[in-house]
Amino acid sequence: MLPNKSKFLLLLCCVLSLGFIATNMVGYFVARDSLSQQISTDTLPLIGDNIYSEIQRDLLKPITISSVMANDTFLRDWVLAGEKNPLQIQRYLQKIQHSYQTITSFFISDATLTYYHSSGILKTISPDNEADQWYFDAKNLSDNHEINIDFDPSAPTELTVFINYKVFDAKGQFLGITGVGLALSAVRELIEDYQHKYHREVFFIDKAARVTLHGAQLSKGTKSTNSIISSDVKARIIDADTASFSYQKNSKQVFINSRFIEEFNWYLIVRQTDEYLKGSIFDSLLINLLISILITAAVLTFSWRTLNGYQQQLEKMAITDKLTGLNNRQMLEPVLEQLFKLSRRHNYQLCAAVLDIDNFKAINDQYGHPFGDKVLVAVAALIRGLTRESDVLCRWGGEEFLILMPNCSSVDAHSFARKVQQQLATSSFDIEQRQINIELSIGISQKESDDTSEHLIFRADQALLSAKRAGRNTIVVS
Ligand code: GH3
Ligand code: MG
Ligand code: MG
Repeated sequence: MLPNKSKFLLLLCCVLSLGFIATNMVGYFVARDSLSQQISTDTLPLIGDNIYSEIQRDLLKPITISSVMANDTFLRDWVLAGEKNPLQIQRYLQKIQHSYQTITSFFISDATLTYYHSSGILKTISPDNEADQWYFDAKNLSDNHEINIDFDPSAPTELTVFINYKVFDAKGQFLGITGVGLALSAVRELIEDYQHKYHREVFFIDKAARVTLHGAQLSKGTKSTNSIISSDVKARIIDADTASFSYQKNSKQVFINSRFIEEFNWYLIVRQTDEYLKGSIFDSLLINLLISILITAAVLTFSWRTLNGYQQQLEKMAITDKLTGLNNRQMLEPVLEQLFKLSRRHNYQLCAAVLDIDNFKAINDQYGHPFGDKVLVAVAALIRGLTRESDVLCRWGGEEFLILMPNCSSVDAHSFARKVQQQLATSSFDIEQRQINIELSIGISQKESDDTSEHLIFRADQALLSAKRAGRNTIVVS
């Protein structure tokens, strides 16, 4: 069985621990849910908006340039006039490329299938050449323009983002395709900049859900979104112009924000997982738990110390006489037993002396009980001052004191008693400006071989009785 103090501390520890664990866990799950909610509804759409604005600034410009070229009257007139001076178109394309710092600019005539480039006539395209197939696909598109990633015929190792714009004459007759090209690596860098800036994954998919543009993190050969977007959520992206949602994948929460960009005919996807959030919330959970452990430890230590303090105080109060500050009767009994055993084992003498104030009732009656109390305190202090360190003194009853004197014979006890009486006689008690004389009757007993502790005290009491009978202020040895 655990003592009550330990039981209390264990219970306190359990209550505090359970309370802290419960509040911390509730806090953890609430924070996680509200953060997930916040990402889905606020953070990711906002980041999507920001990235879209940056894309407009960075990538829509070449679309505008291509559109201007497609509507340029010089280009139209030159084609309609029979493409007579190729140097003119070359200079025009050079000017565009130089002014807008694109890596390429081109025009392909539908009438002659000639590929005009800022560096001159590159080639004549052919439907039979697979590398030229893009032209015939683009020509048949319903849209006026497209963005196509391909190798640049003027620098065949360089992957280029082409903005292909259809050119029509005033009657709507198709004249060819013009446009500019940007280095794919430069566009990728832009996307990576967005990714770094916003700490999210950024990429584009087309209407068939193929990845069209991405930063370096996505594997180069990724043609399908399967590896990055689960197939069942593709539909949610393709069906709406903008969408923000989340789904579970490999025990991770994946958040998606998508937006259809009309000019590209692509969807801008901003993606993130809850991994780093979980990490930070989990870290704060651990910190909170650590703080809780420290608080619990502090509360337990404080409680333990307080309880110990109270316990010691109570223990002291239980064995101390409140009025005189001497030991009380409760304390004496176990000490007496102990001294009895020791005196038997080590064969030393043990005496008991009972000291009783003579006619104390009369003092009370004459001066009042509070005055009597002060007399008791003064007499107790006087006796204490005369006892040896090894003596055990206690207030035995109302106006009676008992002293156990180990290693002391009855002769020594008698001379001690005498000393007490003499000291009382010579010291005039000055209490409340009243001089009073106090006298004591003292009964002494010395332990005999067949004595019990009760009998030793009983004999001292009997001796005291004899001293009273003998006229008081007397010492009797049993
Ligand atoms: P005796 O010489 O025979 O011992 O006479 P006594 O008057 O001293 O003895 P008695 O037993 O007749 O009276 C003891 C008195 O001590 C009675 C009681 O009211 C008083 N007394 C006991 N305890 C206290 C106390 O704590 N304070 C005060 N003021 N008086 C006390
Ligand atoms: Mg008495
Ligand atoms: Mg008395």
